[in-house]
Formats: sequence, structure tokens, C-alpha cells
Amino acid sequence: MKTYDVIVVGSGCGMIVVDEALGHRLKVALVDKGPLGGTCLNVGCIPSRMLIYAADRVVDVQEARKFGIKVKNEDIDFSCVMERMRRAPWKSQNEIGKGIHIHPALPELIPATLHRLKEV
Ligand SMILES: Cc1cc2nc3c(=O)[nH]c(=O)nc-3n(C[C@H](O)[C@H](O)[C@H](O)COP(=O)(O)OP(=O)(O)OC[C@H]3O[C@@H](n4cnc5c(N)ncnc54)[C@H](O)[C@@H]3O)c2cc1C
Repeated sequence: MKTYDVIVVGSGCGMIVVDEALGHRLKVALVDKGPLGGTCLNVGCIPSRMLIYAADRVVDVQEARKFGIKVKNEDIDFSCVMERMRRAPWKSQNEIGKGIHIHPALPELIPATLHRLKEV
């Protein structure tokens, strides 16, 4: 049976605990059904900020007309904006896996204990 010093459930805010535990050289298991990184990285703060940042640049371009700088809106490659946003989590997800054991679900990790908890 595998043993760990720390078992963290959820790779969103849970990564703060993982990083701290790794910093103390503890053996860490992370339980997450995926995608790794949680809401913020995959569908929350990060992708929304990437869209908002691009949208702000469009506004900058539109407002630049006041200063005699004219750029056509057709030059905005929206599919490129979306692709950049979709690619953003990949690098961080690769980093999450380093130095820890990742399990997709709790019952596979500690069945006896958890099944007993579920029955209570
Ligand atoms: C569009 C949007 C924009 C946001 N912008 C901001 C912002 O700018 N600033 C801010 O502070 N917050 C923002 N948030 C909120 C922020 O994303 C959440 O508060 C934060 O992600 C919550 O973290 P968490 O760790 O509690 O949950 P999550 O990040 O959702 O992580 C939970 C993890 O647990 C895993 N999990 C769940 N159940 C199981 C299970 N049964 N077995 C295994 N794994 C499981 C999931 O796969 C997930 O990875 C935003 C949210 C959204 C939707």
C-alpha cells in the first residue's frame, strides 16, 4: 500500500497546500478528477483575464482613432485570441504534475477508509 505524508483533494486552491508540503520535502498525493488546475486556471480567472486583456486592446485601437490612428476591425483574429486562451492552462498543468502522485478519484486512493466514511 502506498503511503503519503499529505493528501490534497482538489488542484485549485489545494495547490497552495501541495507547494507548501513539497517545500517541507513531504510525500504528497493530489486527488483530482481533472482538468488539473481547477476553475481558476481552466475556466475562471486566467481564461477570462486573457479575453478581457484582448478586448481592452481592441478598445485601445478604437480609441486611437481620436489621435488619427486608424486600424480596421477586420484585422482582429478572434480565433487566434480564443486559441491563445485555450492553450494557456497547458503549461501550468504540466507543472502541477511534478514531484507528486496524482490520483483521479478518492475511492481509488484510500478505499477502505472512504467507503466507511460514506456509510456514516
Ligand atoms: C469566470 C470566472 C472568473 C473568476 N475570476 C476570479 C478572479 O479574478 N479572482 C478570484 O479570486 N477568483 C475568481 N474566480 C473564482 C475562482 O476561480 C474560484 O474561487 C476558485 O477557483 C475556487 O478554488 P477551489 O480550489 O475552491 O475550487 P476549484 O478551483 O474548482 O478546484 C476544485 C478542484 O477539485 C476537483 N474535484 C472536485 N470534486 C472532485 C472529486 N469528487 N474527485 C476528485 N477531484 C475533484 C476539481 O476537478 C477541481 O480541480 C473566477 C471564477 C470564474 C468562473
